[in-house]
Amino acid sequence: MIKRTFIRTAVLALGIFCCTVSCKHTPETSTDTTTSAAPSGQQKEPFAIVIHGGAGTILRKNMTPEREAEYRKVLEKAIRTGYDILKNGGSGLDAVQKTVNVMENSPLFNAGKGAVFTHDGKNELDASIMDGKTLNAGAVAGVTTVKNPITLARTVMEKSEHVILARKGAEDFAEEQGLEIVDPSYFYTESRMKALERIREREKSELDHDGKTAFYDPIIKDAKFGTVGCVALDKNGNLAAATSTGGMTNKRWGRIGDSPIIGAGTYANNQTCAVSSTGWGEFFIRGMVAYDISALMEYKGMSLKDAAKEVIQKKLPGLGGNGGIIAVDHLGNMVMEFNTAGMYRASMNAKGELHVGIYEN
Ligand code: ASP
Repeated sequence: MIKRTFIRTAVLALGIFCCTVSCKHTPETSTDTTTSAAPSGQQKEPFAIVIHGGAGTILRKNMTPEREAEYRKVLEKAIRTGYDILKNGGSGLDAVQKTVNVMENSPLFNAGKGAVFTHDGKNELDASIMDGKTLNAGAVAGVTTVKNPITLARTVMEKSEHVILARKGAEDFAEEQGLEIVDPSYFYTESRMKALERIREREKSELDHDGKTAFYDPIIKDAKFGTVGCVALDKNGNLAAATSTGGMTNKRWGRIGDSPIIGAGTYANNQTCAVSSTGWGEFFIRGMVAYDISALMEYKGMSLKDAAKEVIQKKLPGLGGNGGIIAVDHLGNMVMEFNTAGMYRASMNAKGELHVGIYEN
């Protein structure tokens, strides 16, 4: 009897072991927004990269073919930058930083050049980066003179003993470290100024506005925010995540969103996944969205796909927030999950297969 129980237990244990091993090496099924790093037979050294350029009410009917082509072109240029780094054996950190740099330098996105304006007509930039291998992280908030905030975030991570530096202090540190400094006017774009003017007009015409109403106005909620982010898995199995933004149009009082908050806008852990968020920042902070996805994987054993769905389709709307995330796990499974009408996004797997998306489908 004891012997039979022992044999049954041994067979069961063997079964569980085999399943765990094979499951570990089986990327999740692909859907429109979930893809895997390497198709079967290519499991060795999987690497993968995903980017976003912001989530919001991005509708085909509001887009001209020319404008759409411009977005697609920059998304492709950005992701190919990171892909080439990964393909040549470069680090996930280099890939996410350089990819975000491309989008920061494009006026199309709400990061670096092209950032949205504050209530006072300034551009205050936030960014963060995280290394999944060491759990090191760096972030900056409210900087106005640093051309590439994500580069500064990485410098904070690597060259200081701090995680977040803000405003003038962060700018002084950037100068000290020899980063590229620009006149604040560098970030100006007419379209972002017009967006601010529209909101200001609307504020004026609302009789009982109190600032809060204006800031949380549905117009702003539905705006195409345009924050940028990148997550990557490199050939050494290291995950990295980066996010950069100008925040939300008409922000005031030194408002800081989720993008420079580790765990909300950005998170990476080699044991689970790398995540970059975009959307209504206050809710991403309250929901600790990026970390929550990682935690569901770590403590509940959920797949990346299920964890992302749980947080973006259930928890976030439950709090009243909207937006999306991109993520990649330690096996190279990629996810682009959002609860808005659209999200600028792209992914590339180890085989070089490119997927670029804007709308829901
Ligand atoms: N999450 C950003 C913020 O709240 C905005 C965005 O992603 O569109 O600052």
